[in-house]
Amino acid sequence: MGGVVPLTLITGASRGIGAATARLLAAQGHDLVLNYARDRATAEALADELRADGQRRVWCIQADVANEAQVLAMFARIDAEAAGRLSGLVNNAGIVAPAARLEAMDMARWQHLFGVNVMGTLLCCREAARRMSTRHGGAGGAIVNLSSRAAQLGSPGVYVDYAASKGAIDSLTVGLARELIEEGIRVNGVRPGIIATEIHADSGTAGALAAAAAGIPIRRLGRAEEVAEAIAWLLSEAASYTVGAVLDVSGGR
Ligand code: NAP
Repeated sequence: MGGVVPLTLITGASRGIGAATARLLAAQGHDLVLNYARDRATAEALADELRADGQRRVWCIQADVANEAQVLAMFARIDAEAAGRLSGLVNNAGIVAPAARLEAMDMARWQHLFGVNVMGTLLCCREAARRMSTRHGGAGGAIVNLSSRAAQLGSPGVYVDYAASKGAIDSLTVGLARELIEEGIRVNGVRPGIIATEIHADSGTAGALAAAAAGIPIRRLGRAEEVAEAIAWLLSEAASYTVGAVLDVSGGR
């Protein structure tokens, strides 16, 4: 890792895959910005936990990633606290909506879903590129986008809109990787399968998880920590030749 301490922003870091990634990256020596939207208490508790060894600098910043003004304010605060240091971004904040067939969905649902999953990722990528790209005087860095196996499986009858939003993330990851690699930024993605987090309660599918596990070749759900390992590797110098890859972390699903 050399002498420079990496500084990584994780969106949606208060719980689930984001929180597991924060714990792993802190253990690997990253300073962190933990973003969250609503659950300040849980995010602050995680920040305190990670600061406890006295080694890490950890900022906790509220911002709805779908809200441009809030994203700009978050990056302005990073500039104020750690100018020129941002070296990593994990676009993890993501939502689902209640399971439904397409005929039953409305525009408000899609605007919210695409606002967080797609616009939020676009906004954070843009602001990170403006700071990390050598074209703008930055020192380079790495971005990891959270896609989903749903992007390729489509999630029929459950949430084809969510699957489509993650398909957009796959396209963005490939295109942005090729756009930014000459400027020192590696962009990659991760496609988790079914991971045991609280997101499933939001879609009303939590009750079906045990049955779903039986259909996964590895015969169990994934753990947030197992996705965090892939994210941390893609961020690291060990992945220095990995550009525009989207890694399945899905137990064979
Ligand atoms: P989760 O447990 O529901 O956690 C979501 C996190 O995102 C929370 O920390 C939440 O913070 C934050 N968040 C939600 N809306 C936000 C917004 N508008 N702005 C900023 N932060 C926001 O989700 P997860 O299962 O860990 O999923 C993380 C990512 O992996 C998502 O992109 C998801 O689509 C993807 N993924 C998950 C699975 C899975 O099976 N779990 C599978 C494939 C892909 P607050 O509570 O503070 O709002």
